[in-house]
Amino acid sequence: MSNDIKSMTLQEIQDVIKSAGFEKYRAQQVHEWIYKKKAQSTDDFKNIPLKVREYLEANYDFFLPEIIKQQESEIDGTKKLLLQLDEDTKIETVILNDEGRYTACISSQAGCGCGCAFCATATLGLKRDLTAGEIVGQFLRDEIEAAHLLDNVVFMGMGEPLLNTQNVFKAIKLISDPKGRGFSQKRITVSTVGIIPGIEAMIEEGLKVNLAVSLITADTALRSKLVPMEKTYLIKDVIRAAKKYCAKSETRLTFEYVLMEGVNDSAQDAEMLVELIRGIDCRINLIPYNKVSGKKYSSGQREKAISFQKILKGYRIKALIRKEKGVDIDAACGQLAAKEDKK
Ligand code: SAH
Repeated sequence: MSNDIKSMTLQEIQDVIKSAGFEKYRAQQVHEWIYKKKAQSTDDFKNIPLKVREYLEANYDFFLPEIIKQQESEIDGTKKLLLQLDEDTKIETVILNDEGRYTACISSQAGCGCGCAFCATATLGLKRDLTAGEIVGQFLRDEIEAAHLLDNVVFMGMGEPLLNTQNVFKAIKLISDPKGRGFSQKRITVSTVGIIPGIEAMIEEGLKVNLAVSLITADTALRSKLVPMEKTYLIKDVIRAAKKYCAKSETRLTFEYVLMEGVNDSAQDAEMLVELIRGIDCRINLIPYNKVSGKKYSSGQREKAISFQKILKGYRIKALIRKEKGVDIDAACGQLAAKEDKK
């Protein structure tokens, strides 16, 4: 796995090429084939001599994750891909198309160990962290399948990105490297359940990506039931760390609030939320709950979400109700569970 060329920086590819005694510029060519010309295997490295390709093939891996199933929403064209990473590991990635703007929703782990009560991925448990190369592979695969340059990348697929910081940060650097794809960090969002050391690591790393915190409810007793991570990292401390990151990186802070009927969607819940985040420069994404089979939660009527939003707006808090996408193919937010895996 560590021999995966997609996990390597240009410098690391240069080291490989140099130590094998090939011309230095071959590394830049390999890098271009991967990030600019979207090669799918070493066979595609057309201007690279066969002896270099054979050397790479014998000692390193280069491949894009294979699509084993693909579904496309009839409602809005959202595409969900089931990708095979290795014999035992399958993950899902989603390509959203919003009026010609393409967003890739990427997984950072196979399964997830956070155990959020309402989430589909949680039912799988954590299988393993994805490597940087596997994360980059999703990006490249999604861009090829979209047949369009991606506009945004969100780490809102399977897994908790800030429990896999080493690989997630490296993948972010690989796709944003100006010598390669040069995808701006401003167009990347890392969504977290609230892992404080992970947020601090983002500061240390000097990342410039957007941060979204899954707040879910301002009621801490309820939050510890819905989001068990609240027992380790209190939401108020998470918010403090997130504010610090956003100030340092000059990015905007977003809170995700999944609206669940009769659970966290009352006027009183909205007032509690206002109390918690008032005065913070942030935006709230209200996400109507997407049904997960076997879970008791559901989304309320649209009017309920609008009333909730109105209360926030009354306090001049920016609040958007997220458009639901890919509902008919279980590709909407929080529904990724790589069901095929269970067969
Ligand atoms: N682990 C990260 C990222 C993956 S989940 C996190 O927790 O933020 C991405 C978003 O989907 C989170 O805000 C999560 O709360 C939300 N989510 C999970 N299940 C959902 C569902 N069934 N319907 C709507 N949103 C859901």
